[in-house]
Amino acid sequence: MRISEKLQSHRSKSTKPTFSFEYFVPKTTQGVQNLYDRMDRMYQSTLPQFIDITWNAGGGVLSQLTTDLVETSQSVLGLETCMHLTCTNMPVSQIDDALESARLSGCQNILALRGDPPVNQDSWKPVEGGFQYAKDLVKYIRDRYGDYFDIGVAGYPEGHPETVGNDDTLLDHLKEKVDAGANFIITQMFYDGDLFIKWCQRVRAKGIDVPLIPGIMPITTYAAFLRRANWCDVHIPQEYFDKLDPIRDDDQLVREVGTDLVISLCRKLLDSGYVSHLHIYTMNLEKAPQMILDRMELLPKHDEPLDNHLAILPWRKSL
Ligand code: FAD
Repeated sequence: MRISEKLQSHRSKSTKPTFSFEYFVPKTTQGVQNLYDRMDRMYQSTLPQFIDITWNAGGGVLSQLTTDLVETSQSVLGLETCMHLTCTNMPVSQIDDALESARLSGCQNILALRGDPPVNQDSWKPVEGGFQYAKDLVKYIRDRYGDYFDIGVAGYPEGHPETVGNDDTLLDHLKEKVDAGANFIITQMFYDGDLFIKWCQRVRAKGIDVPLIPGIMPITTYAAFLRRANWCDVHIPQEYFDKLDPIRDDDQLVREVGTDLVISLCRKLLDSGYVSHLHIYTMNLEKAPQMILDRMELLPKHDEPLDNHLAILPWRKSL
């Protein structure tokens, strides 16, 4: 099922915010098996609306693994899955193969990305005859598959390092992606809710009216928190330093306090009215996302009526 239909169906029955999980492709066979087990456990205990699997830009073996993971999560585990797909080192024939593999496994959701440059390359270059920007990939998928896929694109509330021009240029590029056929936007992680809300106002003022899905990064350790925020070059509000710096060496306490900080952020986003769905970057970890959802009372209750999550359970096959 497409994500838009799934969220619409939920909204027709409930005002409760929804959520989804992102997983990345592990580097070993054992890692892949562990991930399947974790995805299955997390699905059963939390019932996300969908999950997504990242694409390893570069077109190597790990990219191939994405399609395998998508196939298993969608058709064996029965999870509504969104496949990331990038243009990095991807001739159109390989893009066709990936899309066809997703379609055959029943996956109806693609996050269409340009991709980062491969590790050994400074700047991003298209392959011969390939796509230059994410919008080209979006247009290609729409032209080829019509409405079969829901197509998501990436949004950057605090900017993208390569954008030449002012903040408005990036919004123009975002609008081009939506005009090409994208029907939802998932954002880069961030910790400053005020910056995000201002960005939403500007996105709407540009005439972009598709759902805005914030990317939420849980805080697990102090080092990982700093590393990820610096890597994505996002602003960290002073409150985070005030609360986390004094306890930086105590991982358990950092996770406790970090979870409360992330929950305050999520509540602020939901209260803003721009957001009704949270996309959690799990980093393939179970505990921190579950703590956030549990404390926000977003986990399913045993006396809740069956909805279309559970309707697919009879077709789940054991691994
Ligand atoms: P684009 O929207 O094509 O933008 C790339 C750059 O080109 C931007 O600077 C933009 O301003 C500029 N640009 C766009 N259109 C034009 C135009 N018409 N003229 C001039 N300049 C233009 N990377 C991966 O490798 N694998 C993943 O699975 C992955 N998942 C992601 C998930 C999310 C939610 C996000 C936010 C990012 C993800 N990324 C992933 C990272 C992403 O691939 C990089 O940030 C990449 O550098 C940009 O991709 P994009 O799709 O935003 O590209």
